[in-house]
Amino acid sequence: MNRPHLLLVEDETNIAQALLFNLELEGYRVTHVTTGAEALSSFAGEPCNLVILDLMLPDSNGIDICRQMRRQDKRLPILILTALGEEKHRVNGLDAGADDYLTKPFSLGEFLLRVKGMLRRSQWYQPTQAGEIAAFGANRVNLAELAAETPRGPVTLTELEGRMLAAFLAAEGRVLTRSELLEQVWGMAADTETRTLDNFVVRLRKHFEVDPANPRHFQTVRGRGYRFVREPDGE
Ligand code: CA
Repeated sequence: MNRPHLLLVEDETNIAQALLFNLELEGYRVTHVTTGAEALSSFAGEPCNLVILDLMLPDSNGIDICRQMRRQDKRLPILILTALGEEKHRVNGLDAGADDYLTKPFSLGEFLLRVKGMLRRSQWYQPTQAGEIAAFGANRVNLAELAAETPRGPVTLTELEGRMLAAFLAAEGRVLTRSELLEQVWGMAADTETRTLDNFVVRLRKHFEVDPANPRHFQTVRGRGYRFVREPDGE
């Protein structure tokens, strides 16, 4: 198999050099750029298997770059790097289609684990049978196409949203623990500390719930995880 090609978008020299060195040590081929404009032109010129994207770039906001890349490739894994205390940016990044984020300063080991997990996940990705439609509430979802009809109109899901929805559909009616979701959907160790998972549940609710603040299909089971209910009582 060809070596995975990673696009590293990071303008802080010290961080970039450390990441570049260690990614290459792991056997990845890495293109390193320092601006949003370079990132987009590299992205247009040569396909990559994963993007590592700093949010504060000299010429642009990483969130815009993320959104543009996601528009062109809905399955591309995107890992966002944010500085400490930029909670808002992180959430925006996930809304813009990123799959995961790391807050600086992060450990190199954790970073490499995330990259490995994201690449493995995208290799696992097998579309469900063409034309198979999942229906719940007012939603109809074609998981192979990542296309959905929702109460708010048509929605295109990202690959990770699709994987997460598939996990919920397969576990219909029972509690999915955070550990199960991390392993099945993210390919991460069950004890990984991350809020990404909860952000993704929020995203599914925004897509599919009539009232996202009072979810009926994607329910929180306090202290345990989440439960997907196809037909809530009284419907
Ligand atoms: Ca920066």
